[in-house]
Amino acid sequence: MCGIVAYLGPREAYPILIKGLHRLEYRGYDSAGICLVDTDLKIYKQKGKVSELEQFVMDKDVSGTAGMAHTRWATHGEPTQINAHPHYSQNNRLAIIHNGIIENYASLRSELINRGYQFLSDTDTEVLIHLIDDIQKNEKCELEEAVRIALNQVIGAYAIVILSKDDPNKIIAARKGSPMVIGVGKDEFFVASDATPIIEYTNNVVFMN
Ligand code: GLU
Repeated sequence: MCGIVAYLGPREAYPILIKGLHRLEYRGYDSAGICLVDTDLKIYKQKGKVSELEQFVMDKDVSGTAGMAHTRWATHGEPTQINAHPHYSQNNRLAIIHNGIIENYASLRSELINRGYQFLSDTDTEVLIHLIDDIQKNEKCELEEAVRIALNQVIGAYAIVILSKDDPNKIIAARKGSPMVIGVGKDEFFVASDATPIIEYTNNVVFMN
């Protein structure tokens, strides 16, 4: 279980997210990744250090005032670029970062494969985002409702953050058994594994139960 940090507000997200990942490095990790919301969800990820991710995005478009970032400690699937988070849903409409373990991922995964979903990674996490996507399409509900329904089908521990290109002004976060804090600033919101990426910006920090 490693680190997550997310931001939504008026500022450029990238510098806040990268700084946040550095603050979470003490937790240990094997890969790092980031998603920035623009007209599309832009995902960049790398095996190795946060500094290697910074190097990788040097010539990339990192604009966007909402985003999320992750450091992974692999539990399901090797520490590779493909298995690093974030993970997209089909058609790159949604993206997820996750700390923790989905225990019943194998049965969920085969059900989703039967329904036509294609998996790019070996992670338990990718199951979650296809499941949420599938539920939202079938139920024609709001994303947060789809997340609630999906999490009721999941056994395990998680802290997750989800972004949607259809709803760029929203961060969806949920936790069970993995830590997560929310920071509320002036017109801006933060989510992180602990308060270290947030306290520089706001003292208004809520530890989620
Ligand atoms: N179980 C997930 C994976 O292996 C998340 C691991 C983590 O907490 O970093 O990708």
